[in-house]
Amino acid sequence: MSTERMGVETLESSVALIIPLFNEEEVLPLLVGELESFKRARKEIIQVIFVDDGSSDGTVREVIRLTNGISGYELVRFSRNFGHQMAISAGIRRCKADAAIILDADLQDPLDVAGKMLDKWKEGFDVVFGIRSLRTQVPAAQRLTAHVFYRLFGKLTDVDAPVDTGDFRLISRAVIEAFNQFEEQQPYVRGLIAWLGFKQVGIPYERPGRAAGDTKYPFRRRFKLAMDALTSFSTKPLKMAINLGLLIASGSFAGLIWVVLTKYVLGTAITGWASLIFAAFFFGGIQLFFLGIVGTYVARVYEEVKRRPRFVIQDVWESGKKGDSDGSKAINER
Ligand code: UDP
Ligand code: MG
Repeated sequence: MSTERMGVETLESSVALIIPLFNEEEVLPLLVGELESFKRARKEIIQVIFVDDGSSDGTVREVIRLTNGISGYELVRFSRNFGHQMAISAGIRRCKADAAIILDADLQDPLDVAGKMLDKWKEGFDVVFGIRSLRTQVPAAQRLTAHVFYRLFGKLTDVDAPVDTGDFRLISRAVIEAFNQFEEQQPYVRGLIAWLGFKQVGIPYERPGRAAGDTKYPFRRRFKLAMDALTSFSTKPLKMAINLGLLIASGSFAGLIWVVLTKYVLGTAITGWASLIFAAFFFGGIQLFFLGIVGTYVARVYEEVKRRPRFVIQDVWESGKKGDSDGSKAINER
């Protein structure tokens, strides 16, 4: 329960941090160090939920080594890599606290901003998201594609999603409960949270570069996320074919009249094999393009109707628990 509602400053409300991990062994010592000082400064943080998204490096071993003697860490281990959005969804499911803050492992989502999110939550906001203001340390090409994507998303969907925000955000208990009702196979977490509504506010911050290691989001994954986002929130691409089809049909009808007129009125037939063949290719291309769009939506429907489990949790390990002091039971030496 929030301190504000109780009107008692000393009563702490509980907050969990949800941090997805995919091959993050390099950044973990730094991260746990920062988390420990953050926990000391903000007593509301009662738990850190790490979700290991099928790492193939020493991530699991590092988490256990670094947090074994300390209480308040939970490590949820997926049976394989299910993706960042799934790791976040699993973390939210496991959260029992009054609020959760979702952040990346690489310290690109600064903890002092997380502290500001806590303050906003105490003022009564349900969702506090970080707005990436300058992002000076993020590669220019990535900044540009992100910039274009967020604006395109805004144009194509009816969701009032804030631009230039990632998944770095605080969500209240009410939002957690609502979010847990989603069962989408390819969730676009930030869009779903925007869709939920509630009292939302943004905090601008400058996004630093990765503290250690390389990005786990190569262009291919980034593109997939963008496609998931657009296809799960908009059906406008499906309808684009109607307008374009009408435009081309009416244009070619005018062209046809012109051809007939030149032949019978002016008495000259237009020749040109090249123009014909390229027109055929052009329209073939457009048709395949839209067939692909339709296919994308059909594939999504197919994924949904199978109703497979969205992720598989192999095991859960808790730090500071008796009877497993060396963490050997959970770790299985990967
Ligand atoms: N991540 C994950 N599963 C994946 C890819 C990434 O859990 O398949 C995690 C990763 O460990 C990090 C966060 O998602 O905590 C964001 O990834 P990253 O920092 O590499 O993305 P970027 O900041 O480059 O967009
Ligand atoms: Mg990052």
